[in-house]
Amino acid sequence: MFQKILIANRGEIALRVLRACKELGIQTVVVHSTADADAMHVRLADESVCIGPPPSRDSYLNIHQIVAACEITGADAVHPGYGFLSENAKFADILAAHNITFIGPTGDHIRIMGDKIEAKRTAKRLGIPVVPGSDGAVTEDKEAKRIAAAIGYPVIIKASAGGGGRGMKVARSEADLEVALQTARSEAGAAFGDDAVYIEKYLQKPRHIEVQVFGDGAGRGVHFGERDCSLQRRHQKVWEEAPSPALNAEERAHIGGVCARAIADLGYSGAGTIEFLYEDGEFYFIEMNTRLQVEHPVTEAITGIDLVHEQIRVASGGGLSVRQEDIRFHGHAIECRINAEDPRTFTPSPGTITHFHTPGGLGIRVDSGVYSGYKIPPYYDSLIGKLIVHGRNRVECMMRLRRALDEFVVDGIKTTLPLFRDLVGNAGIANGDYDIHWLEKYLAEGE
Ligand code: ADP
Repeated sequence: MFQKILIANRGEIALRVLRACKELGIQTVVVHSTADADAMHVRLADESVCIGPPPSRDSYLNIHQIVAACEITGADAVHPGYGFLSENAKFADILAAHNITFIGPTGDHIRIMGDKIEAKRTAKRLGIPVVPGSDGAVTEDKEAKRIAAAIGYPVIIKASAGGGGRGMKVARSEADLEVALQTARSEAGAAFGDDAVYIEKYLQKPRHIEVQVFGDGAGRGVHFGERDCSLQRRHQKVWEEAPSPALNAEERAHIGGVCARAIADLGYSGAGTIEFLYEDGEFYFIEMNTRLQVEHPVTEAITGIDLVHEQIRVASGGGLSVRQEDIRFHGHAIECRINAEDPRTFTPSPGTITHFHTPGGLGIRVDSGVYSGYKIPPYYDSLIGKLIVHGRNRVECMMRLRRALDEFVVDGIKTTLPLFRDLVGNAGIANGDYDIHWLEKYLAEGE
């Protein structure tokens, strides 16, 4: 087991990882920018190292400084959290070259999944169902027209190097296609420095369902069921739940089994999420994330398994603590992402939190790095906390969620709490009948 882990992140996820390390008796080092000197993760860690000024590129993305912090403090492993360097293959390679363990998959696996065309090709080879579309990058408009006609309109043009919902264009007919291709290529070139694009069938009313997987790096793979993250705004997840209200036990076991086998065949190590669009009973792979997800606590709630403990165990060579048959699903869990944003316009609302009171009671978990008197710096993303609620079934979970949202107090800044108070009372949400466009339509109707 590791002696000392350096946590290369901030906010609630830095605290989340810190808690797991403390439970396992592992010393913790955190790094922080000058803007985060008062952050909770800095206060609670055994050691902290200031690695630079507020902008992420000079601090949380500064590989050189982070490696130096490992060497100064003698950390033998790095947990990258999510975002920042968590899916940076070069970072994983550099740590390996310094004999520091990256708590995550190999640089090569990160690289494959970070290139969407390569990821889709790999998924297909491993027997994962993919969205019908071009076999790889499309360079000629003539070829694009032929493929689009074969799969049928509407189609979506996606950037191979894309991420964060950027670099996607929908073409509803052949007349739209040329412009969509041109725009997608130039946007991809400008945003990612790579203008390779590919074509997929555009699914009209899918749900976003993702499977949590784990590999031990030695040919064993397991799945921890799925999460439904269909409630999105601008392709950003807002509300996540497990299990999905749309799947039955047979579908769950089937897609979970497909993913676990794929992970085993790939020789993958650590946590991963295989994301699908789900429509009319069919799953279509869109991408794989090679890290811990923001929404991992809903899976922890229904399985009772600490996924960060598993990540650390696997990275240290101790293997997974569970076999597939040990992973059972209990009840229902929902996570609300509480952002420091206006609940209608979603404009960021940094500032000082004058009062912060979190709900409690059975089935309630709050993962947050803020406190009363905390000043939210304007430099980073606006997530200030996550409310995760568990119940024996979805109805009980929703009852508890409504009550917990009423107890939650964040004064001094705007947050998305009022949005969740509206959603929890909505009939469409109550019956679980929503797709990836539901939330945007709901927000547009409220304007
Ligand atoms: P990113 O890496 O930028 O997040 P994804 O491939 O994961 O891109 O897609 C993000 C979102 O875009 C999906 O959750 C879905 O809402 C939408 N999307 C992607 N591909 C399709 C498709 N073929 N049909 C319909 N919607 C899609």
